[in-house]
Amino acid sequence: MTTTLRLQSCLKRLKLPTVARHAEALAREAEESRQGYLEYLCLLLETEVCQREENQQKARIQQARFPLIKTLDTFDFSAMPSLSKPKILTLAQGEFIDKKENVILIGNSGTGKTHLATAIAHAACRQRKRVRFVHAATLVDELLAAQAEHRLTKVEKQWRQHDLIVIDELGYIPFSKTGAELLFQFCSAFYERASLLVTSNLEFAEWTQIFGNDKLTAAFLDRLTHHAHILLMNGESYRFRQSMKRLESLPNA
Ligand code: ADP
Ligand code: MG
Repeated sequence: MTTTLRLQSCLKRLKLPTVARHAEALAREAEESRQGYLEYLCLLLETEVCQREENQQKARIQQARFPLIKTLDTFDFSAMPSLSKPKILTLAQGEFIDKKENVILIGNSGTGKTHLATAIAHAACRQRKRVRFVHAATLVDELLAAQAEHRLTKVEKQWRQHDLIVIDELGYIPFSKTGAELLFQFCSAFYERASLLVTSNLEFAEWTQIFGNDKLTAAFLDRLTHHAHILLMNGESYRFRQSMKRLESLPNA
């Protein structure tokens, strides 16, 4: 058997496809540039590591199930001057996830909460953290269905495998009593174990509307805000402003 065949057979068994793809070309380059054996080996293994990390990032982004991919480079910070750009950039570095802290974005509709939440979570995926994006109402529906089918423990266990869960649009729809209790139980299970990133159009004082019960709301807020970065995003809707600009630029406007 030739050296190439022996090498390819070993790499297949060792599951090193990127090494297999680049071994010969890099060997030729190494010869031409008189690279040492160790330098060649190191370069070759680096290609495998880089490729694996890239694949994992892609998988994390897919598993997060973002409704739309949004990143920080398309976020116009000048449209929201009250928001601290350095703070957002720090959050995008993901240290809050290592510390199991939460992020809460509060502001009226169209102010970029979902955009920022997605961008921070997308950055976390690039750091190969396990992330999941979900609308609050969808999550509550899923928990209710799981409870009705006696598989709540299993479902909650699956969710607990994440490092960061984005719960978007809390407050748009009030929950039933059972729904609110399930959401409380769900979020409590993450307290100091993983991070939650919650967006809401309601200020904390109005959260009783979501949970329908003062005590439950207080207990929920107590846990959620204990180690939390709270960002207020009140202002004019970006969407609305863009539409106004478009209208103003029309000839007869
Ligand atoms: P919210 O979740 O607060 O209702 P979204 O994040 O859905 O708002 O924003 C509405 C639209 O406006 C999205 O397309 C979003 O990308 C865009 N948008 C909002 N704020 C900004 C901003 N500061 N820079 C760039 N795009 C923005
Ligand atoms: Mg939104």
